[in-house]
Amino acid sequence: MKSIYQAIEHLYHYGLSNNLLEKEDRIYVINKLCDLLSISTYETPNIKTYNIPDNPAPLLTPLLDFASKKKLFSPDTTKRRDIFEAKIMDQLLPRPSTLNKQFELLKSHSPKEATDFFYRFSKKSNYIKTSRTSKNIQYSSETAYGTIKITINLSKPEKDPQDIIDQKDKQSSDYPKCLLCKENVGYNGETTLVGRTSHRVIPVSLNNEPFNLQYSPYVYYNEHCIVFHENHIPMNVSIKTFKRLFDFLDQFPHYFLGSNAGLPIVGGSILAHEHYQGGHAKFPIEDAKIVESYTKNNIKYDLLYWPLSVIRLSSDNKETLTKAAMNLFEKWQNYSNPDLNIYAKTNDTPHNAITPIARKKDDTYILDMTLRNNKTSEKYPLGIFHPHPENHHIKKENIGLIEVMGLAVLPARLKTELPHIKQYLKDQTPLPKSLDQHRKWTEVLKTQYTNQNLETFINHEVAKKFVKCIEDSGVFKQTEEGQSAFKKFFKEVYYV
Ligand SMILES: [Zn+2]
Repeated sequence: MKSIYQAIEHLYHYGLSNNLLEKEDRIYVINKLCDLLSISTYETPNIKTYNIPDNPAPLLTPLLDFASKKKLFSPDTTKRRDIFEAKIMDQLLPRPSTLNKQFELLKSHSPKEATDFFYRFSKKSNYIKTSRTSKNIQYSSETAYGTIKITINLSKPEKDPQDIIDQKDKQSSDYPKCLLCKENVGYNGETTLVGRTSHRVIPVSLNNEPFNLQYSPYVYYNEHCIVFHENHIPMNVSIKTFKRLFDFLDQFPHYFLGSNAGLPIVGGSILAHEHYQGGHAKFPIEDAKIVESYTKNNIKYDLLYWPLSVIRLSSDNKETLTKAAMNLFEKWQNYSNPDLNIYAKTNDTPHNAITPIARKKDDTYILDMTLRNNKTSEKYPLGIFHPHPENHHIKKENIGLIEVMGLAVLPARLKTELPHIKQYLKDQTPLPKSLDQHRKWTEVLKTQYTNQNLETFINHEVAKKFVKCIEDSGVFKQTEEGQSAFKKFFKEVYYV
């Protein structure tokens, strides 16, 4: 028993030194932890000082092992461990109302201090598991469009076959309705199999509508946040979107905020719940070359040189900018060009959509409007303007706003697949059958590889493939025909 008391006491000291709780909470917190671990007595260990690690993962392992042995959760999978872990961490955390007051107080004199505080809280509470996110692979590569950033995300736990059995036994339930819903705050994870007991969100009013701010547990980039509507209502881009984005920038000028398109294929992964993604990070698109510019009515219009078709609008007047954004959006919604396979509608089903991303520089609001289309065809059943089959071996998933900005979020499988390709290039070790999808590409690479640094070579080739994926998603292609049509549409936009 001694060692479990030490583990409990160590975790309490972790909470104390990270300001998650206060000294006067000690007995209460220890009793709550004991209750959770089904322990009825406690002895204070005779230890003077505790080493406090950067994140609580190493302190949680002995507690989780203890709980698993006592069958306090089962089966012993990563998902079930995460659920129990969230319950442990929740004992150390303030209630939502206390946290909200701390955030509001900081925000009243510095929005940056407020977000710094909440981001740090989300990491220290292990909602963002830095022990996992630090394993993500990240690098930059030079391309025809400038520097592109790549990340291979390894922080999402792989599904254990046990989890699938576990999930099968669950009654299908609509509580919470989705993984973004506010009902996840403090929720025990029984229907979702995601640990959310320690989850906290901050209420934020945008355009006088109720939203909540949280961080993404997977941190694709610095301070990757999600701003979701209080209610489970579907994603929709409208005049309200621009008003909400600009209102957010007024409150948090150091962050950007963008919306995925409101249509499937070109939209995000959760279309059922209105939400935006933002954060404190600079993206490659910000340095994109400008092909053409035009200034009219206090709005600067820029046509960007970018794999996707992007028009940048900037102004220091957000009302004028909102009108200009709506004008562009409406013109795009009605745009068809059969020569380029762009059709605004099939019968009454719309295909044209926009991915808007907003940021602020000094007093200027900058809005990148990416033109999207979700039509499918017999040749491209997943989408005409979606990564094409020959590029699926690198990325098959939807191209959302993060990728639009030039940051690739690539599947975790590449971590184990790419070493085989490197080995093949190095000494012709045959590729395993399971990597057939890479075979054609690997043969091409073989003809190009001339003993340069293998790591740099592969990284660069992956980046080139990703650029192809986003070029596939661009509506106006980088051809003479495509670009001349794009410039013509650009002119239509500012000739209001
Ligand atoms: Zn929801």
